[in-house]
Order: sequence, then C-alpha cells, then structure tokens
Amino acid sequence: MAQETSAGNSGVIHGGFDPTPGTVNARLNVLGRHLYENEWFKELNFPHRNRHSIVLAFNDVEKKELHKLYDQGITNGLKADELEILSLEQCLALEPNLNATVVAGLLCTSSHSVDPVILTNKLVESALVNGAKLFLGNRVTGITKVGEEFCVETINHHSQGQIIELDLLLTRRDTTRMLSQE
Ligand SMILES: Cc1cc2nc3c(=O)[nH]c(=O)nc-3n(C[C@H](O)[C@H](O)[C@H](O)COP(=O)(O)OP(=O)(O)OC[C@H]3O[C@@H](n4cnc5c(N)ncnc54)[C@H](O)[C@@H]3O)c2cc1C
Repeated sequence: MAQETSAGNSGVIHGGFDPTPGTVNARLNVLGRHLYENEWFKELNFPHRNRHSIVLAFNDVEKKELHKLYDQGITNGLKADELEILSLEQCLALEPNLNATVVAGLLCTSSHSVDPVILTNKLVESALVNGAKLFLGNRVTGITKVGEEFCVETINHHSQGQIIELDLLLTRRDTTRMLSQE
C-alpha cells in the first residue's frame, strides 16, 4: 500500500481553485478538502498542517491567469477569505526569498500538507476497522460493469496464474464489498 504514485506525491491537500469549474475534479477537490477539515483531521490520527500557498505571476499575461484562477476558485466553492490576489510587496512580505521580478501572486489559505504514506496507511487502517477486506498480491486482470456495479477479476501472484474471482463489487458511491473468494 502507498507504494507507487501515492508514495511520491507532494502531500498537498489542494484548496480547490485549480480544477476547471463544473468538472468532477473540481467538485471532489472541494468536497474532499472539507471532508479532511471537518472529519478526518479530527477522527483519524495523522500529521497535517495548514499551509498557505502562493501561485506567482511574472508578467501581465500570467497576472491575468491569477484572476482566472481566483474566479475559478470562487466558482468551485472557495470562500472569498480563502483567496487573495497579492501585489509584489505583499508576496515579498510573506516570502522574502522570492524572485523580485514577480509581479503578483494568488494566495490560498486553505491548503494543507500531509505525509501521503502515513495518510494512506491510516485510511486503510480505518477502512479495515469499518469492515473492508484487504487483498494484497492480487493482480487485477479485468474489470467489467455489471448493472450498476463493477466486477474486478484478479490473478493471485502466489499461486502460479490461478484465477481467483474476487467478486469485488465497486458501487457507484465507490464503497467496496467483497462478497466471496474462491
Ligand atoms: C509528482 C506528483 C505529485 C503529486 N502531488 C499531489 C498532491 O500534492 N496532492 C494530491 O492530491 N495529489 C497529488 N498527485 C496525484 C496523486 O498522487 C494521485 O492521484 C494518487 O496518488 C493516486 O492514487 P492511486 O491509489 O490511484 O494510485 P497509486 O498510489 O499509484 O496506487 C495504485 C496501486 O495499484 C497497483 N496496481 C497497478 N496495476 C495493478 C494491477 N493490474 N493489479 C493490482 N494492482 C495494481 C500499484 O502497484 C499501486 O500499488 C501527485 C502526483 C504526482 C505524479
């Protein structure tokens, strides 16, 4: 678990101004961040810290992009006090080591940083407590949609290609149920 992309990402829980409004990505980014803030930070014991992020613009064209990102953020559901367009002086006051050719910045106060490996392990631990089953060492060989659900077939690496039908069903709400293992 947490061995591939999740082991090497930047560990940022993004504020939500970046995804294009109206996309699933935009909706889930803000929804997911609120889930962390309102529930998981309190219920699950893992290190996290609120981090302010600044997107920097180095010319007038890029400065227009900052306003676009600001508007996107508001459309995606961020509150006005979570985003602010900063002047060069305001950027330097927050981070004196910045390149002085910066012309403006977009401050987001609702990002957080986590350790992605610790977090992933904590989420798996919580899922197991809630009744999920974990199958390690099973390579997925096919996924087919059955009505409203998905059937995932795997090959168990440890048994020389023997096909094991896990009947792992993923519902639309992304909850998982293991029904049987033959
Ligand atoms: C450089 C970088 C920085 C990022 N920074 C951030 C960030 O700051 N914040 C953020 O929210 N997101 C970030 N992301 C995106 C985020 O890391 C990914 O969206 C996330 O890790 C995906 O998780 P995953 O469980 O889907 O994939 P993974 O963590 O890659 O896990 C997939 C697992 O499936 C296994 N697998 C593959 N094929 C099979 C198979 N056939 N059968 C069985 N198992 C299989 C793999 O071995 C692996 O264990 C970043 C991504 C990158 C590349």
